[in-house]
Amino acid sequence: MAEILDGKAVAAEVRAEVAEGVAELKEHGVPVRLDVVLVGEDPASVTYVSSKERDSAEVGIDSRVHRFPGDVLQEQLAALVGRLNGDPAVSGFFIQLPLPAGLDAVPLISRIDPTKDVDGLSPMSAGRLAVGLPSLLPCTPHGIIRLLKAHSVELAGAEAVVVGRSNLVGKPLAQLLLREDATVTVCHSRTRDLPSATRRADVLVVAAGKREMVGVEHVKQGAAVVDVGIHRREEGGLVGDVRFEEVEPIVAWISPVPGGVGPMTRAMLLHNALQAARTTAEAALR
Ligand code: NDP
Repeated sequence: MAEILDGKAVAAEVRAEVAEGVAELKEHGVPVRLDVVLVGEDPASVTYVSSKERDSAEVGIDSRVHRFPGDVLQEQLAALVGRLNGDPAVSGFFIQLPLPAGLDAVPLISRIDPTKDVDGLSPMSAGRLAVGLPSLLPCTPHGIIRLLKAHSVELAGAEAVVVGRSNLVGKPLAQLLLREDATVTVCHSRTRDLPSATRRADVLVVAAGKREMVGVEHVKQGAAVVDVGIHRREEGGLVGDVRFEEVEPIVAWISPVPGGVGPMTRAMLLHNALQAARTTAEAALR
């Protein structure tokens, strides 16, 4: 029987820490504010943004949503990014992705001041992570590391295999695992023999976005398996990239879907907002 990597419980710990940090800053007259740029009316994006507002309120973080219609001009969004960068009342902000067709997220994200980049996705933040400079870390990979550590999964010297090489999850996670002294392999859709690569893993993280693609043939006995995938089942509920029922009996740790990586991602956004507020407050004191 595997130990469940309980994202709900660890996320609650992170939220409690953040709430404490936010209260402490407030005592020193520093409010924490997390702004969101929401373009268009994609229902999933609207839902994500309102849950992030709720999460923020719960830990004492103030939040503002800047809403735009889907046909907003790229230049208007670029101007807003400039204003948010320069507004001392804004601790950090992010652009809810994906943007509607016709808008290009990359130049907008590239303009975000790295000290306010709470998603940690700008090229500057990614570069700082890659060369080992302090930066705000992308929420999902950071949450995964925190989840593994909370369950005392050994990372130093471990064979870590990441399935997926997106800028959002796979690549930054590989950097973070390297930082933890794991030996890291990154697999993707052109990997020739996926099961033989993933079977080497002491720590296997699956972020392929392919429903239940990883089964018992992909895992080593006693491994830690983290499932990043989220897929809606027609009959209701969520499943991940891993066939949980099949894999769980042979591994030592496994993250469930839901209740694994998802809550960690949400909690690390709040953690980043607090970190951004601290950095801004320190800069103001200098
Ligand atoms: P992307 O689609 O951007 O990337 C998927 C990666 O998986 C690509 O690198 C792709 O390879 C690789 N891949 C796809 N199919 C295979 C395969 N058969 N074998 C090996 N590699 C494969 O997805 P994201 O990284 O954005 O997200 C991945 C999943 O995680 C999604 O289900 C998403 O919904 C979920 N997610 C969950 C979060 C959470 O909080 N729980 C947060 C973020 C994402 P290639 O590069 O060659 O195309």
